[in-house]
Amino acid sequence: MATTPHTTSPLLHSGPAGAAALAEQLQTAVVEMARWMDEYGDFSPHPSLDVEVGRLERATEELRARLRDNYPFFHPRYVGQMLKPPHPAAVIGYVTAMLINPNNHALDGGPATARMEKEVVAQLATMFGFDQHLGHLTSSGTIANLEALFVARETHPGKAVAYSADAHYTHSRMCHLLGVEGTAVPTIADGTMDLQALEELLRTGAVGTVVATTGTTGLGAIDPVHDIVALCRHYGARVHVDAAYGGFFRLIADDSADGVAAAPFAAVAECDSVVIDPHKHGLQPYGCGAVLFKDPGAARHYLHESPYTYFTSEELHLGEISLECSRAGAAAAALWLTLRLLPLTPDGLGAALRPGRRAALAWAERIRAGEQLSLYQHPQLDILTYYPTRDRLSEVDRASAHVMTRGMHLPPAQSLFVATYTVDAAALAARGHRVAADVPHGRILRSVLMKPETEQQVPSLHEHVLDLLADSGT
Ligand SMILES: *Cc1c(COP(=O)(O)O)cnc(C)c1O
Repeated sequence: MATTPHTTSPLLHSGPAGAAALAEQLQTAVVEMARWMDEYGDFSPHPSLDVEVGRLERATEELRARLRDNYPFFHPRYVGQMLKPPHPAAVIGYVTAMLINPNNHALDGGPATARMEKEVVAQLATMFGFDQHLGHLTSSGTIANLEALFVARETHPGKAVAYSADAHYTHSRMCHLLGVEGTAVPTIADGTMDLQALEELLRTGAVGTVVATTGTTGLGAIDPVHDIVALCRHYGARVHVDAAYGGFFRLIADDSADGVAAAPFAAVAECDSVVIDPHKHGLQPYGCGAVLFKDPGAARHYLHESPYTYFTSEELHLGEISLECSRAGAAAAALWLTLRLLPLTPDGLGAALRPGRRAALAWAERIRAGEQLSLYQHPQLDILTYYPTRDRLSEVDRASAHVMTRGMHLPPAQSLFVATYTVDAAALAARGHRVAADVPHGRILRSVLMKPETEQQVPSLHEHVLDLLADSGT
């Protein structure tokens, strides 16, 4: 029997292990793009832009030295905030396109990357189950949410926007900016929107749009989008989903042991708009958010004419449906290349999300099994909240702060980076925690487990926190 000869290709690892291979790929990018530039004919570089290589090297040396003043976002022992480096494919995609520096404001600013943007936005729409859409990349989740709330205001003028008390603060800020009334709906004990309170609010008829968050920034709590959609349809309100952090968990929203809740994510398909941040869980460098509208007719709210942008085709230009003007075409190229390699499927990017989810569940289990730490609430995504078991909130606060500051000041190879999260007595009591409220609020510990490598480190991370606590003297 004839066997098919197979060629094995070496792997490009992420992190420092892949540095040499990444350097080689970047070299190819620079050389090959220069080859394309050469097709337009030689020209002499202007001396005003020439720099001496020696001076450049001294300056870049200084740059690298200054960049050491950073936290090790790439390392599995960094389990603090929502930060991690981009995938090497995103770096290659970004740098390759940036050498041309296309501007995705208009097709004339970069036809190739504008088309890539449309392709990746279509892939995001498919992931969310939108059968039709209008959407584009933005420079951040903040701008993406601003656009969604702007369209909310235009379609329901004079009506309020409601979001949960745990929603990202950008919603109240953007409502203020847009001159729209913003209303915070209380949360229940798991950090999700209180549906009873929402219904009471909807009954007044004052609310035009409800913002559901699939993965709050603090706790990773997932608002019940399916229930919110049903309520909003009944009362004639729109639904916008802020999936800036949690959106990519749609790929593993299958109710399985290492997946996340299916129903809220499936219901996003019925919502009016959704925001997702590829620069959070989509492995992209900062400068990549996205907003998608279910109704392509949302384009009418963006109409403008300008004498200085010359649109050379009849095709819809991204600048015609975006509040931002200049935007990096390189961001679209980076996401496009990343999704070519890690597509929006359970086995593609989904396989990079599951380990973090498992890490959160496994660490929660360890915390429950011991006495020294208490779990604040069960993780719904990959964000874990917990605290040193103490009688009084002031002691919880002191011990939590100790773990955070002591951990980050250890020598690099022994350091541990966790974050804190401020809670009040009522939030603790609502979750059944018996901590005496001798102070109105205090810090607990919070860990974002967004790197797949963290899964292997859970036992040692747990011990590390316990070791830091043991010498806390509190
Ligand atoms: C991060 C985040 C935002 C803000 O997005 P930026 O990209 O930081 O501007 C909004 N909402 C949620 C739920 C977030 O997690």
